[in-house]
Amino acid sequence: MTKGDSVAPDGLAAVFARLIAATGPISIAHYMAEANARYYGSRDPLGAAGDFVTAPEISQMFGELIGLWLADIWDRAGRPNDACYVELGPGRGTLARDALRAASQARLAPEVHFVETSPALRALQQAAHPGAVWHDDLSSLPADRPLLIVANEFLDALPVRQLVRTAGGWRERMVGMDAESALVPVAGTRPMDTAIPARFEHAGEGAIVETSPAAATVVQEIGGRLAAQGGAALFIDYGYVQPQLGSTLQAVRAHKKVNVFAEPGEADLTALVDFAALAEVAEHAGARWLGTSEQGHWLAALGIGARAARLARAAPHAAEAIEAATIRLTAPAEMGSLFKVMGLAAPGWPDGAGLARVSFNAAG
Ligand code: SAH
Repeated sequence: MTKGDSVAPDGLAAVFARLIAATGPISIAHYMAEANARYYGSRDPLGAAGDFVTAPEISQMFGELIGLWLADIWDRAGRPNDACYVELGPGRGTLARDALRAASQARLAPEVHFVETSPALRALQQAAHPGAVWHDDLSSLPADRPLLIVANEFLDALPVRQLVRTAGGWRERMVGMDAESALVPVAGTRPMDTAIPARFEHAGEGAIVETSPAAATVVQEIGGRLAAQGGAALFIDYGYVQPQLGSTLQAVRAHKKVNVFAEPGEADLTALVDFAALAEVAEHAGARWLGTSEQGHWLAALGIGARAARLARAAPHAAEAIEAATIRLTAPAEMGSLFKVMGLAAPGWPDGAGLARVSFNAAG
């Protein structure tokens, strides 16, 4: 929607416009949560014909290496035979399919649990994994067994909260309306200075501090469960490992960036994941942080090169496509550097393959 366009009366933009007209601006977190609930709930956004493509949809190697990572750490933890596979936001179920196939070769054949809110995607997951158990959130996951948890491009879809520095101090960043009734970012009226970490206190006017309380809540719950139940978790997402200022909120539709405020519910809203903050949250909750690596390094350490060569030998006609997929997943200019892999485990569990505990300097 550009300025002056009329909004569909039943579209989410119109719903927000009525709400804002009646009660004033809404928070960025509220906006993002409702926009993504509508967006994911009503479609399969993945693939060339959709809005974006994820790593498991690029190549089977991605899910396979995740399955082998899980099987390896599970093996070295003593092969607890009641461990469950848990995936958060499993999309089409592709990653789970490839991971579980690879894991079964190491004789890991776990019960499968999916946390998914989208009815549209649940239907696709059901077709691919008829024996799985679905959950609306983490609370109903089994509480008495080790969990092997995977989340790819899940945390980035959870709502972020933004605080903006104004002439009058820090305020929550909100969504309001301009004179033409277009949705626009505005500063809230309530002082928020006490919510700003010391390192950002003196940032200049216009600076934005972004956090994801929703992502922190998920990682806190998982950290606590790993500590209590045993298991390990892999979070893969695009994100950063140093605290930083600025809004990373973006909207993507049909593989192109669009205005974040133009088409709520029709575009995928994501924000970069603050991996340093989440590692701290996990450790506070009692889990071990196994390290956070760049996706390219991690896949290379796990042997994506050898796997690609083997697949290409088995299917020479597909060799070029396999090579292209490998580059897309690992090259620094593609998904290799921007995407990070964070590993967590229960206190008594071993280290994770391909992950190193580098320390984050609190710069920025
Ligand atoms: N992991 C898949 C899909 C990524 S898209 C892949 O890599 O291809 C994000 C996924 O998270 C979708 O399945 C979406 O429906 C789900 N999702 C988004 N917000 C969610 C929430 N709050 N609770 C549960 N699932 C959510």
